[in-house]
Amino acid sequence: MPILASGIATGEKDLGNGSKLYSYVQEIPIPSYLFALASGDIKQASIGPRSVVATGPRELQAAKWELEESTEKFIQTIEKIVFPYQWKTYNVLILPPSFPYGGMENPVYTYATPTIISGDRENVDVIAHELSHSYSGNLVSNASWEHFWLNEGWTTYLERRIQAAVHGEAHRDFSAIIGYEVLLLPNWLCVVRCACNSWNMSFLKVLALLDKC
Ligand SMILES: [Zn+2]
Repeated sequence: MPILASGIATGEKDLGNGSKLYSYVQEIPIPSYLFALASGDIKQASIGPRSVVATGPRELQAAKWELEESTEKFIQTIEKIVFPYQWKTYNVLILPPSFPYGGMENPVYTYATPTIISGDRENVDVIAHELSHSYSGNLVSNASWEHFWLNEGWTTYLERRIQAAVHGEAHRDFSAIIGYEVLLLPNWLCVVRCACNSWNMSFLKVLALLDKC
């Protein structure tokens, strides 16, 4: 089965015993929580000059259509806001429905839920968020889990800057209003939301937050 990992592919070697060796290199230092690998019946298709989408063969064309219009646009936009993209390629792995966990900003390959493949390109701003993590969170990361909000705070800021450039200031403002309203939700709702959004928050920490409600 093909392998994808959080680096740049440097080759495949047939080991002659029915096994294959896939090699990747990641020259930018990353914390261990950002490393991921996936294996399966994965096919890839181009969605831009420096991007591919990877997913199952039956889902490939729909995923390509969903992402090919916006991905390079998002990259060029954030390059104007911050500085050139540092990870060489920006790719998206669309996860299977049996593992539909949101978006995870693993370097080189963002892991994304299949629910963004909705057939109307209405949910692709998730990619703007995960791409923004290529700067805030991945190039510069939090020193401890206590400060993970810094990763998400700056990334949400950059995501909304992309939204403003691509969709207009009104879209950014509306996104900020929705985000602010979420902050005003009752504590227990916020805790559930945090738990859903962050794989990295330990169950014990969620319990501790619940205890404070
Ligand atoms: Zn995030």
